Amino acid sequence: MPERNPHPRPTWHALPAREALVRLDTTPQGLSDQQARSRLARHGPNRLRQEHGRPWWKRLVAQFNNILMLILLAAAVASLGLGHHLDATAILGVVLIIALIGFLQEGKAEQALESIRNMLSPRAQVLRDGRRDVIPAEELVPGDIVLVESGDRVPADLRLLEARRLRTEEAALTGESTPVDKATDAVGENADLGDRSGMAYAGTLVVQGTALGLVVETGSHTEIGRISEMLRGVETLKTPLLQQLDRAGRVLAVFILGAAALTAAFGVAVHGQPVGEMFMAAVGLAVAAIPEGLPAIVTIGLALGVQAMARRNAIIRRLPAVETLGAISTIFSDKTGTLTRNEMTARAIWLPGGEIRIDGTGFAPQGDFHEVEDGRTREQALDLDGHHALRHFLKVGVLCNDAELAEEHGRWHIHGDPTEGALVVAAAKAGLAARELRGDHARQDAIPFESERRYMATLHEVDDEPYLLVKGAPDRLLEMCHRVRTEDGEAELDRATWEAHIHALSSHGLRVLALAEKRLEGIDALADEHAEEGLVLLGLVGLLDPPRDEAIAAVKLCLGAGIRPVMVTGDHAVTARAIAEQLGFAHTDRALTGRDVEAMSDAELEACILEVDVFARAAPEHKLRLVKAMQAQGGICAMTGDGVNDGPALKRADVGVAMGIQGTEAAKEAAEMVLADDNFATIAAAIEEGRKVYDNIRKTITFLLPTNGGQGLAIMLAVLGGILLPVTPLQALWVNMVVAVTLGLALAFEKAEPDIMRRRPRDPSAALLDLFLLWRVVFVSVLLLVGVFGVFAWILLYQQGSEALARAGAVNMLVMGSAAYLINSRFLIRSSLSMTGLFGSRPVWVAIALVVALQLAWTYLPFMQLIFGSAALGLVHWLVIVAGSVTILLTVELEKWVLRRRDVTDSGSPSRRRHDEHAAAR
Ligand code: ADP
Ligand code: MG
Repeated sequence: MPERNPHPRPTWHALPAREALVRLDTTPQGLSDQQARSRLARHGPNRLRQEHGRPWWKRLVAQFNNILMLILLAAAVASLGLGHHLDATAILGVVLIIALIGFLQEGKAEQALESIRNMLSPRAQVLRDGRRDVIPAEELVPGDIVLVESGDRVPADLRLLEARRLRTEEAALTGESTPVDKATDAVGENADLGDRSGMAYAGTLVVQGTALGLVVETGSHTEIGRISEMLRGVETLKTPLLQQLDRAGRVLAVFILGAAALTAAFGVAVHGQPVGEMFMAAVGLAVAAIPEGLPAIVTIGLALGVQAMARRNAIIRRLPAVETLGAISTIFSDKTGTLTRNEMTARAIWLPGGEIRIDGTGFAPQGDFHEVEDGRTREQALDLDGHHALRHFLKVGVLCNDAELAEEHGRWHIHGDPTEGALVVAAAKAGLAARELRGDHARQDAIPFESERRYMATLHEVDDEPYLLVKGAPDRLLEMCHRVRTEDGEAELDRATWEAHIHALSSHGLRVLALAEKRLEGIDALADEHAEEGLVLLGLVGLLDPPRDEAIAAVKLCLGAGIRPVMVTGDHAVTARAIAEQLGFAHTDRALTGRDVEAMSDAELEACILEVDVFARAAPEHKLRLVKAMQAQGGICAMTGDGVNDGPALKRADVGVAMGIQGTEAAKEAAEMVLADDNFATIAAAIEEGRKVYDNIRKTITFLLPTNGGQGLAIMLAVLGGILLPVTPLQALWVNMVVAVTLGLALAFEKAEPDIMRRRPRDPSAALLDLFLLWRVVFVSVLLLVGVFGVFAWILLYQQGSEALARAGAVNMLVMGSAAYLINSRFLIRSSLSMTGLFGSRPVWVAIALVVALQLAWTYLPFMQLIFGSAALGLVHWLVIVAGSVTILLTVELEKWVLRRRDVTDSGSPSRRRHDEHAAAR
């Protein structure tokens, strides 16, 4: 027995569709806006209750869950045991502050990601007042009429009113992943969820066909809402880079702990130091040397990258994509709408009687038709009334078509597929209104257009006879036609002539469609076999879809950055190549078609994948093979897609890119990144941001580690040498904290270096912590070490200053030296000694100003002196510290200069692959 529902509701699946409409007080034309508003107020938004992230207190507690925090807590307890109450309190205080900082930083990063996730809220096509509209799925109410098509996630529980070849995948609900067929009939009251074929349920995926459905339940009243109130899980913040850092960090921590213990043991055994003192020294060493602030800062860098990308219309769905984008070496891109504007205009029609050109641009239905004679267009506009063949052609183009033309605020818009919209506009130019035609010749059935099928067919009553109307890719249709319509009947189809016509249109970059028809009697449900033979060809139409200007610029940018754009399109090879040429990336004459790809073995494909810039007549399954072949050649690929079937290729690609406007929900879910504007240029922009993020992370690491290194070495040497510690454990803690919240953050805001898109793509197998980086860290650690000991010894020995004064000098030397090194770190190899290098970054100077303020407070405020054992420095000390810092700055610049002379590049890794050499050879 199913559980009793507290709110009894109709068993929608058992109601005839008509009755469901009555119950919900609606019609197939949909609700009015007024009704929808009041229902929305009554039923609430159509969304599942959001799963909340971890509660804040759990995130706070998690901050203490790492080695360093545990060491510190142990140290606090130990200090207490040794009777150092002040130390214990101070350690605890700092521990709390570090936890709080980590907590806030992580929260900010999570927030940034959350706000972006909301940008991707799904949309739904509804009928309101008989008009089609696209609204946020959240605004759906019971009684709405919605349209769904393949690739959509069903937005609410629907009672189906019309279903054409509809199949849905209901794994989200039933766990069964084979798609199920849907129809409109009611089923028995007791039918299982999986057998209720008259319903489409929220959260399930339409894998084929189209349907019109009545919204019967929304939000948490839907089946999926009742099963679980959970939404898709929250993304983790761990990316490969962070994991790599984590691992490196753990190894480092163990190593440092070992070294600290040995050092302390040495102090006890050799120098006879008290155990308690040495324990604290070991803690100090660990605190000083472990870069605990690093993961938080890297996470922030990634989150900033996500935000910057969102500002440039690239919405990141999975955080690792931010890193991977910087390494992309090939972009497989759709043509239509991504590289081109997707503003189709019909420019030429080829009928058996000859060619006709069409005037006008855009979607406004204004323009004349002109006949072409001997290659010259006639001045005089064609008299349409006398041209039956043309009128018939346009009429078929409108009937076998789902697009609508509408004028809003004086501007003309297309609702639906722009390819089809162009045909509606062309017909409107001839005075044929789509609404009337479609009213007069009601559609009885349809086979929707799908990229694999490459045609669309509809069944109508024309002149009281049942006719099958077909439109599709011309080469595909030529295979299906055997005759051609002429003025006075039919004639044998002369394939060669028509192929020449197709070629003539395509070679100008026009997208070509063919139209055909066939009398078809005694059929009530269409099947593919009905359309695929015995058709009569009506003619061809060529659609202009110019390249986007931004895409042309972006292609140039990519080529300069060692990134290959490759076009993958369903369009004709000749059209595709013509467009690729206009975009500037057709290097060879070779364009492969989907068929060619099918005929090749994987090895053959891999052998030629680096040579081909255009793949035409390609279907989604070919995309997957292209990605695999390119990856086998060492390429890191981005692949665009919009349909359900693009899922596997998008998942396999290193960065799957879905279209935000044209793309289906299924494609978006499979993708790492979504383009809010469907624009190729946005991919290039995201890559640029990705490279910048990676650069800045490298810079941040190169900057942060030496502070730890210098401090750690200083404490270690002091213990080994049996001398006074130049920096106490508590002071080391303070330095880490101050540097992490001020200086450490600054480099995440660094702008991209000017040559960032003139470098080759990063080799993804190259280690983040490479030799160059290690060298720089050691080098600067030693510089800081010399500075710290120098100042310490100078104050203690030559100035006869107190221990406290000498330590205050040493700590300030360490922090100011790090501040100076921050300026070096803005560029790893390039010189910072220029106006922009020194003063070009506001965050750097804000950070330095902050750190100076904090250090002044630390040095002079009485309670700081009490807690941290600091002492007031004199002017001469500061002069020495500043001079020391400038010396560090100049020394690192000298080192960079030497490296530049020796031609070392920052990301220079010797393992360049074949793929890369090939790109370089161009
Ligand atoms: P693209 O990669 O350019 O989006 P498609 O797979 O959408 O390619 O289209 C492939 C071919 O199918 C086009 O060249 C065109 O001839 C034909 N075609 C495109 N859209 C439609 C449609 N709505 N109806 C019929 N045929 C279409
Ligand atoms: Mg398309």
